[in-house]
Amino acid sequence: MKAVQIIQPNELKIIDVEKPVIDEKNNVLVKMTAAGICGSDVGIYHGTNAAATYPRIIGHEMVGRVAEVGPGVTQVKAGDRVIVNQVTSCGHCYPCRIGRGNVCDNLAVRGVHIDGGYREFLAVPESDCYLLPDSLSDKDAVMIEPTTIAIQSCTRAELKKDDMLLIYGSGALGSTILKIARLMCDHIIVADIVDDKLEAAKANGAKYTINVMKEDLVEKVKEYTEGHGSTVSIDSACTKDSLIQLLKATGNAGRVMTMGFSVAGTEVNQFLITSKELDVRGSRLQNKMFGKAIQLIHEGKLDLNGAVSHTFPLLKAQEAFDFVDSHDPSIRKIVLTFDCFE
Ligand code: MN
Ligand code: ZN
Repeated sequence: MKAVQIIQPNELKIIDVEKPVIDEKNNVLVKMTAAGICGSDVGIYHGTNAAATYPRIIGHEMVGRVAEVGPGVTQVKAGDRVIVNQVTSCGHCYPCRIGRGNVCDNLAVRGVHIDGGYREFLAVPESDCYLLPDSLSDKDAVMIEPTTIAIQSCTRAELKKDDMLLIYGSGALGSTILKIARLMCDHIIVADIVDDKLEAAKANGAKYTINVMKEDLVEKVKEYTEGHGSTVSIDSACTKDSLIQLLKATGNAGRVMTMGFSVAGTEVNQFLITSKELDVRGSRLQNKMFGKAIQLIHEGKLDLNGAVSHTFPLLKAQEAFDFVDSHDPSIRKIVLTFDCFE
């Protein structure tokens, strides 16, 4: 079968690999139908993702149809449409024992540390398959994965109805966080450097917006929160000075969420955290959030249709990644399709 492998940074190849067979552990064979291209996939391609190892079959937004199941499988059957969990964990380390397998000491993310979904078939455990809602096409369903990342950050932030939330950065990550956050609280401020993105945020439920190129973030947040500052700030910009900016913009007793992966030094100071007794928390991947995302779709609270702007057949992955690099303004979500193998 065919697969897309990043041999080393900036070298993408279509390779032939053996079709996986199911066994006792990986007891469901999934025939891929759609795989999203995420910013982190682009990072692995270009060698800027510190977590990735090479060579790697990438792709962690994995949608397909169940082709075959092993004995004893009850949750799914052949023909079911599923999305596959990207996180695999060991189950016995400290984080796993306290129910936080997304930061397992032996964490292996599909498409990052182990081979992912840019291939015709994958064999995975039954417990990693989630049934898709009928309302969502296979290509739109890849958006469930980024949605789980957003649910994770809002959950880690313990976002509540009366919070005053600041979302810093309104790109792919920030706008997905907004979609989830607005289900949990009304007072949402979105900050970015692009007016178009801020306008879209307003249309999607942000109460206030701040263009940090033209306005002072900390001052404006104070103004929009009756002088207190935000009670929760989520960093979906993850730039060099975003953390200190959010420590300043967040009010006493607030929570500040980091989501970045940069190892570059950034200036912070203890006074900002101690004097306001801030909780600074990381949010990584997602912890059993696929079920929650799918439930929100079933309840009619979340609509993921229409986010995909372009599709490319898997065998044209190089073209797709080149197109991403062109930064064409029409790009929203790009999905690799597998019709070429029908
Ligand atoms: Mn992703
Ligand atoms: Zn573990």
